[in-house]
Amino acid sequence: MKRLLHIYEREPVRIVLGLSLFVAALVTDGLVGDNAALPIYLLALIASGALVFIDAVRGILRLDFLDEKFLMSIASVGAMIIGERAEGVAVMLFYLVGEYFEHRAVRRSRASIKSLMDIRPDTARVLLDGVEYERDAEEVSVGSIIVIRPGERCPIDAVVIEGRAELDTSALTGESLPRTAEAGSEIQSGTVVLDGVLTARTVRLAEESAAARVLELVENAQEHKSREESFITSFSRVYTPIVTVLALLMAILPSAFGWLRPADAVYRALSFLVVSCPCALVISVPMAFFGGIGGAASTGILYKGGNVFSPISRLKAVVFDKTGTLTEAELRVDGIYPEGISEGELSRLTASLEQGSNHPLASALSRLDPSAPPARDIRELSGRGVTGTVGEDSVGVGNAALMRELGVNIPEGPTDGVLVAKNGVYVGRISLTDNIKSEAGEALTALRALGVTRTVILSGDSEGSVRGVAEALGVNEHHSSLLPEDKYRHLEKIISETDGTVAFVGDGINDSPCLARADVGIAMGEIGSDSAIEAADAVIMTDRLTALVRAVKIARRTLAIAKENIVFAIGIKLLVIVLAAFNLVGMWAAVFADVGVAVLAILNSMRALRAPSN
Ligand code: ADP
Ligand code: MG
Repeated sequence: MKRLLHIYEREPVRIVLGLSLFVAALVTDGLVGDNAALPIYLLALIASGALVFIDAVRGILRLDFLDEKFLMSIASVGAMIIGERAEGVAVMLFYLVGEYFEHRAVRRSRASIKSLMDIRPDTARVLLDGVEYERDAEEVSVGSIIVIRPGERCPIDAVVIEGRAELDTSALTGESLPRTAEAGSEIQSGTVVLDGVLTARTVRLAEESAAARVLELVENAQEHKSREESFITSFSRVYTPIVTVLALLMAILPSAFGWLRPADAVYRALSFLVVSCPCALVISVPMAFFGGIGGAASTGILYKGGNVFSPISRLKAVVFDKTGTLTEAELRVDGIYPEGISEGELSRLTASLEQGSNHPLASALSRLDPSAPPARDIRELSGRGVTGTVGEDSVGVGNAALMRELGVNIPEGPTDGVLVAKNGVYVGRISLTDNIKSEAGEALTALRALGVTRTVILSGDSEGSVRGVAEALGVNEHHSSLLPEDKYRHLEKIISETDGTVAFVGDGINDSPCLARADVGIAMGEIGSDSAIEAADAVIMTDRLTALVRAVKIARRTLAIAKENIVFAIGIKLLVIVLAAFNLVGMWAAVFADVGVAVLAILNSMRALRAPSN
């Protein structure tokens, strides 16, 4: 019985069943007469529409009955009652056919997004005592050794300990250029190893790794409704009752005044009801956003919800963090200036402290002395630096603000790069070069062309290097030596001065407050710290700034598609309503029109899936 019900639930089964009975009824009607045909018409209606009727009754019991199932039930039963039997069954059949196509289109689009997002392998090859075992990725603990062979996806975020290979990161970042991994490089889950075998130590659990987090973000994104989607919901809430009342009036008034025969008036009212079903509208707009979110994700841009599209498409000002955002996250040490201690000791102290930090400066600094022992009591002071204990010595590495805080006297002279203090005494400076990202200029030009009129750098770095970057890129304003709270104050001022939306673009390291405060907070780089992902509205998985431009373009195009769908669905709807009111189209044509609109709108939405090339 349960299995039969299951089979019956499938739309094609109901359609074929209903259609066969419908044909039988039509034939009987023609050959024998309508009295004999009536039971077969009823059977056909029940066979095709039972589930719809049940849902309609459920809706009524929940007092939430003004939906398409309710409309279709009234229309088909009403048509039967006024003697339009064939019409009654036809409406239900057409409705089912429409549902079938609609569900198919939705399923296919979901499938294509899923395949875009098929980035998480289920198993990992774990190396234990020189033997490889295949394990559920979920069960692999942090610190396990895994092996990834050519052509395989890395299952868990890990650091390479042996081997060298080209990586394809496009599933995460949308970037097609391969990247080289060798001992020491971190590889994110979802990345494909192209050639060579890598042995790596896992640094996270599978469910906390990049691929899982990307998927989680994309899945959750559909819950944050855009303004356009909310508009549709509230629109149907007002719209359906109005339509129902109008239909009642259409059924009663013309017959009361003797303009139409009661059966004709009721028929017109019923077709009007069917026509006004808002299903095309209700489905097409969320589909557009669904497509936009999925398409963007396939190029490494993760929107946290459809609600980001509108503000990001109206950007007027963009505020950048400098280090790691406008400049390469990989810095290079270009000078070591010890003061009273040896160069080797300065390097060792610095490297000891920086091992635990994920600030862009840290990886270059910790490479100064890879064998340095890790410091104890490490504290990272955001926007200033790090303090900790190495052996018996308390050490601080950071900017002038940190030195002031530690009560350290800094000698006259340049203070760019990082300053180092040991037991409260200045022991030297390490300078670093940061290279402006090669595509930064191009990205800023493109942003201006998209209507961004104000660009600002807010940085914790020293004035000299910040000014250099601002001038090289033609950024309007820059502010340097800022603590995180100063950045926040500047951002608030910029927001209050700007007519239009303001984006903050940061690498997610100590700029969560700004990411949260901006109209659009964009975290760039990899899928870094939790707090940054939490605070941001969009996460860009690549560190290329051109992705920012693409993010704006995708948002604009998705909004345009959603609007096209709204206008198209409402337009056709109005047209058919008018035609039905004047009895120029029948009920089944009306159902068909609605289905057609829904399917076309879904197809239109699929355009949002295709990412623009740039
Ligand atoms: P930005 O705004 O340029 O991204 P941050 O606010 O992240 O810079 O950091 C500001 C300054 O604080 C850096 O230029 C550096 O001098 C110092 N700093 C921050 N984190 C560290 C660290 N881990 N090690 C050394 N110095 C640091
Ligand atoms: Mg930063």
